[in-house]
Amino acid sequence: MEPTTFVLFGATGDLAKRKIYPALYNLFLDGKLPPSFALIGLGRRELSDETFRGNVERSIRTFSRRKVQDDAAAVERFLDAFRYCVLDVGRKDDYRKLLDMIESREQELRLTPNRLFYLSVGPEFFEPIAANIQESGLGSADGWKRLVIEKPFGRDLPSARDLNRKLNQAFAEHEIFRIDHYLGKPMVQKLEALPRSHPAFQALWTGRRIASVQITAAETVGVEERAGYYDHSGAIRDMFQNHMLQLLMMLAAHLPAGQADEKAGVRKKKAVQALRPLTKEEAKAHVVRGQYAAGTVQGTPVVGYTAEPGIDAESANDTFIAARLLLDDPFWRGVPFYIRTGKRMSGKSTRIVVEFERLPGQPLPTAEDEGAAHDLLVVDIGPEEGITLRSKANDPRRSAASEPIRIDLQANPDDVPEAYENLIGDALRGDATFFAHWDEVEWSWAWVQPILEAFADNLVPLRLYAAGSEGPAESDALLAENGHRWWSDSRNEQEIEMKEGNQYAYHANH
Ligand code: NAD
Repeated sequence: MEPTTFVLFGATGDLAKRKIYPALYNLFLDGKLPPSFALIGLGRRELSDETFRGNVERSIRTFSRRKVQDDAAAVERFLDAFRYCVLDVGRKDDYRKLLDMIESREQELRLTPNRLFYLSVGPEFFEPIAANIQESGLGSADGWKRLVIEKPFGRDLPSARDLNRKLNQAFAEHEIFRIDHYLGKPMVQKLEALPRSHPAFQALWTGRRIASVQITAAETVGVEERAGYYDHSGAIRDMFQNHMLQLLMMLAAHLPAGQADEKAGVRKKKAVQALRPLTKEEAKAHVVRGQYAAGTVQGTPVVGYTAEPGIDAESANDTFIAARLLLDDPFWRGVPFYIRTGKRMSGKSTRIVVEFERLPGQPLPTAEDEGAAHDLLVVDIGPEEGITLRSKANDPRRSAASEPIRIDLQANPDDVPEAYENLIGDALRGDATFFAHWDEVEWSWAWVQPILEAFADNLVPLRLYAAGSEGPAESDALLAENGHRWWSDSRNEQEIEMKEGNQYAYHANH
């Protein structure tokens, strides 16, 4: 890895404290930081280097997934790379001071001037920071430069295009690393290569017809402290346009053998381009817009969305969205992709379910075993991680009757890196595979734009759902139109519950 100066805007913020420092510490433990590494933290507050290092140490002691070792010398070595500089985004002088500081660190440590600028600040600062990096000369050294930015990337298609155009005045596309932290999750990183990764998956993908794909990201929490932001974003901007469509692209970016060496980014772009567009008028037939009402989440009574602190009592904001999407692609033609995401749902889970059509000769479901009558490939992305195949089979030891089985293709792995470790490690190495590329972002916004407009014009009715439920009844009805149903609710879990002694463990990475 090449020598790097990591310039962190928003070094006193919440994300830095909870995610970025713990990720850097775990990369350090794994020997995955560049051997010559300097970090300069930036914030508006005056802090001494010592206080800053003390804050970073507290953050890793509180939030690191691996316990901070008692080896004081190792912690000291990690913290030794950290310096602090006061910077107000709008003050040009501060950038010149920053440049002086970076140059003197580079000289002191004999670092090639490779600079990674990480923007862990509000989106209103993305453009001015990029422009000031350009203007101040911070981005004109002999080494490489990279810009890592957090979400959100725009709030609709025109604003995303505008932001991108402005960033491109200071950074080329290959220098921009847009974080979508779902792409850092280990299970998500496996998705795109899944059909090629093991004979078992190859056989499933090529030998079986896929009936539907379902992608769910359910949260039990409400708006929490983010009322101001969330009430102007909703589930469609906060989750759907970015994380959910990225999950769709990762799964659908499968192409027939022969093109498999095409870069993942190119295949993801083809997947999002293949999404059949919806017009504003068509949105109502394919999209369900929901908002939680009062209810009980896991035994705790909670208020409805419009009674939450900071939320307008008349708000028609969406806290739930379900949609049916079709891809005009030879492999996926006729296979509906169902996506749903919501707050205050019955359980917390991010999961993809691939439902296969029944094989000829496979018994027809009876009324009692309807829930287990289909073959499902279930990819659990969080909080549990794993890949399971759920089906029915005859168990000759028991009886001729078929029973539900569950095959673990990838057991819950221990010691998995966090999303931010994977992503920061990749950005340091210059590998943009698991970042949101501009084409993907632009096409996602283009698909979502008519739905935003339909919501704004109230063309898609707002459906209330009780907190602690599976979302509005219309979301079930959307799938029922095609003879499908959601497979990821707790009811199905019980139905598919594996019976004792009926599990065939098979680990895909044997
Ligand atoms: P935060 O409010 O906790 O921190 C913001 C940081 O920006 C602070 O360090 C603050 O000093 C700095 N800042 C604010 N105004 C400034 C100015 N004028 N000049 C210089 N610095 C200034 O926010 P956060 O939760 O750390 O989030 C940061 C970014 O990450 C946001 O874009 C957010 O959307 C995104 N994000 C956060 C999370 C999360 O879990 N917190 C998750 C995903 C994305």
